[in-house]
Amino acid sequence: MILDGKKLSSEIREEIREEIKIIYEKTGQKPGLAVIIVGENPASKVYVNSKIKTCTELGMISRLHQLSEDVEESEILDAIKKLNEDEEIDGILVQLPLPPKFKEANIIEAISSKKDVDCFTHENIGKLFLNDKNSLKPCTPQGIIELLKKYEIEFLGKKVVIIGRSNIVGKPLALMFINRGATVTVCNSHTQNLGEITKEADILISAVGKAKFITSEMVKSGAVVVDVGINRVEGKLVGDVDFENVCKKTSHITPVPGGVGPMTIARLMKNTLEAFKNNRG
Ligand code: NAP
Repeated sequence: MILDGKKLSSEIREEIREEIKIIYEKTGQKPGLAVIIVGENPASKVYVNSKIKTCTELGMISRLHQLSEDVEESEILDAIKKLNEDEEIDGILVQLPLPPKFKEANIIEAISSKKDVDCFTHENIGKLFLNDKNSLKPCTPQGIIELLKKYEIEFLGKKVVIIGRSNIVGKPLALMFINRGATVTVCNSHTQNLGEITKEADILISAVGKAKFITSEMVKSGAVVVDVGINRVEGKLVGDVDFENVCKKTSHITPVPGGVGPMTIARLMKNTLEAFKNNRG
């Protein structure tokens, strides 16, 4: 069965749009998202435009801050400081990766944790670690959890194998599964006998960024496979999983495109709405 992230994300977006409409009719206020992009990375520009477009479709306020790669770190920090104080803005997002001369950690940490809709600050990651139910949740991992829950996939007692240990996907997702009672293994580029480990997984998540990395020999029959990877092959968007062959063995699998990607954006919008409600009472 296909885990249809596109369909679920449209449902979530519709719910958000309705809620914003009602809030606006009652209060005259709308949630606002500010996106800061530094430099000219073409992939980042595509992602940012898609986020801004979704804000508009859902009736949110959006602000795009395009900064040149030549700016000093202090200018980015100033922009964030102003947005932290801006009452029209509930969510602030700095599009990553930043050009290499910047220290991402310094810049991310300047975002108010109440407006940190990507959930990258120490405070929000700490809350995730402590399983604080009321905190903002990182978009891609939370989108994956919501997609699996929609299809009634059990986590308790299941063996979850995550390939990739990034701060954006692998590590926070591991915490989320641990918090839900799964037995979790996180693999990286130094992992020995990867195929033996993945074959044990009830739920296998690939967040590597290499096309056809997951082959059918690496997957247990009846497993759930979630493909986070985004790769371009001959102009086409593909994931990490050799979908055509792997799908024959799985009980559930996400496609690329149309799986995790749309869930990430839907979750970003939901986080902005949640931050609005928290920040403005
Ligand atoms: P990342 O920071 O580049 O991390 C990749 C991870 O894969 C690293 O932990 C790396 O291990 C591991 N890896 C690389 N080669 C491996 C191998 N041969 N065996 C086992 N592990 C290996 O990437 P990311 O930011 O997490 O993103 C991963 C992919 O997901 C990318 O394609 C990205 O574009 C995509 N993504 C998609 C969404 C979405 O919304 N769909 C969101 C975020 C990311 P080491 O740590 O040892 O190097």
